[in-house]
Amino acid sequence: MEESDSLDIKKERIRLGRIGVLNSHLSSNPNPMASEKEAALAAVPSDSPTIFDKIISKEIPSKVVYEDDEVLAFRDISPQAPTHILIIPKVKAGLSGLSKAEERHCEILGRLLYTAKLVAKQEGLDDGFRIVINDGPSGCQSVYHIHVHLLGGRQMNWPPG
Ligand code: AMP
Repeated sequence: MEESDSLDIKKERIRLGRIGVLNSHLSSNPNPMASEKEAALAAVPSDSPTIFDKIISKEIPSKVVYEDDEVLAFRDISPQAPTHILIIPKVKAGLSGLSKAEERHCEILGRLLYTAKLVAKQEGLDDGFRIVINDGPSGCQSVYHIHVHLLGGRQMNWPPG
């Protein structure tokens, strides 16, 4: 077998492995924490369009709780708390993750956090809430369009997992 053939076969195996992991992420899974981690490890960091673009364009339905010209907030499909909402910028502008932030992103980064506060109030999370921004494979990021997780409605633990 040619060396290039075996490289192609390896690449195909990795690709199929990723599809398998992503499929298991989308189907019902008895251990959601493990599947979140698997999905994050299978995701390839990139600036390409993501499923969130389809949510913004309403091609894919979502449960929107807040929307304005700049940001969209919708319920996470796999909630990790009674309230679990994602807040995203409508225009990604290179912000696939927080580690890609530049000075020019300061306004939208502030807007995302301020929206998290507004939505927390709207959701009645008066006793407190948790804000999370996962970044990169080690940070358990699975969708490369920056997003703020707003979690509430139960007692949070520290340190986080
Ligand atoms: P992260 O792992 O920090 O990148 O978070 C991505 C989040 O997007 C996960 O919590 C997923 O459950 C959530 N998610 C993925 N697809 C959808 C979808 N179609 N609607 C709502 N939430 C989604």
